[in-house]
Amino acid sequence: MIIENSEIILSVRDLTAEVEGNQILKGVNLEVRAGEIHAIMGPNGSGKSTFSKVLAGHPAYEVTGGEVIFKGQNLLEMEPEERARSGVFLAFQYPLEIPGVTNLDFLRVAYNSKRKANGLEELEPFDFEDLVYERLDVVKMDPSFLNRSVNEGFSGGEKKRNEILQMALLEPTLAILDETDSGLDIDALKIVANGVNQLTRPDNAVVMITHYQRLLNYIIPDYVHVMARGKILTSGGKELALELESRGYDWILDQYAETVGV
Ligand code: ADP
Ligand code: MG
Repeated sequence: MIIENSEIILSVRDLTAEVEGNQILKGVNLEVRAGEIHAIMGPNGSGKSTFSKVLAGHPAYEVTGGEVIFKGQNLLEMEPEERARSGVFLAFQYPLEIPGVTNLDFLRVAYNSKRKANGLEELEPFDFEDLVYERLDVVKMDPSFLNRSVNEGFSGGEKKRNEILQMALLEPTLAILDETDSGLDIDALKIVANGVNQLTRPDNAVVMITHYQRLLNYIIPDYVHVMARGKILTSGGKELALELESRGYDWILDQYAETVGV
């Protein structure tokens, strides 16, 4: 929801970044305030996942210019763990599998490291289990998933739900969801969307990266941005997503690429 004059959570200015010597982000600008849901859409290969990984601090991506301020701090100077602990959460487009580490242990370590960073006592395993069981409900996940290795052998949809379970536990200030809808059937999509909706509050914000408008039927964005060729070409309200659905992306490129300079 758009709240007048709410706190700026994320401010991205002229962000450029490269991977393996190729410039992918060519000057991204974005401002996200508390309470808002932003959607970033755009054709394949436009730099959406790169943008999310740069925000999370993925080491393969080199920032070559611009700035990112998260809650008043210079995000780009923070280590990835520090970013996570201070409230940035990224749900990956392709969630990693971690064989040999149970989901429950993984979640507890992540959760407790965030508590510690905030000066809180770690939760004892039994207390943590109570909390996890409560949060499982947000994503309608079976408890048996807690004792399996992280994401190992999970179906695409189960991995995505597991990402939202992490989000439900970590309660991030800024959640970046990279194609959390891809590979989901309609029931799983509704569960994931419902989970995200339950987790949005006036003091946090969500940036959803998505290819398709259908997720946006369930999670209503305040702003829709179109990224192509490493820049945000244009932004609008939720109706822009519907227009993209019916008209595709080419007209956006025709109309804006030259003005924006890509
Ligand atoms: P999107 O998520 O919008 O589909 P990506 O950010 O995944 O786009 O990719 C943007 C471009 O960057 C693509 O051309 C892709 O091949 C390239 N790219 C992304 N990651 C890497 C990498 N690790 N190594 C080489 N090229 C990459
Ligand atoms: Mg992507």
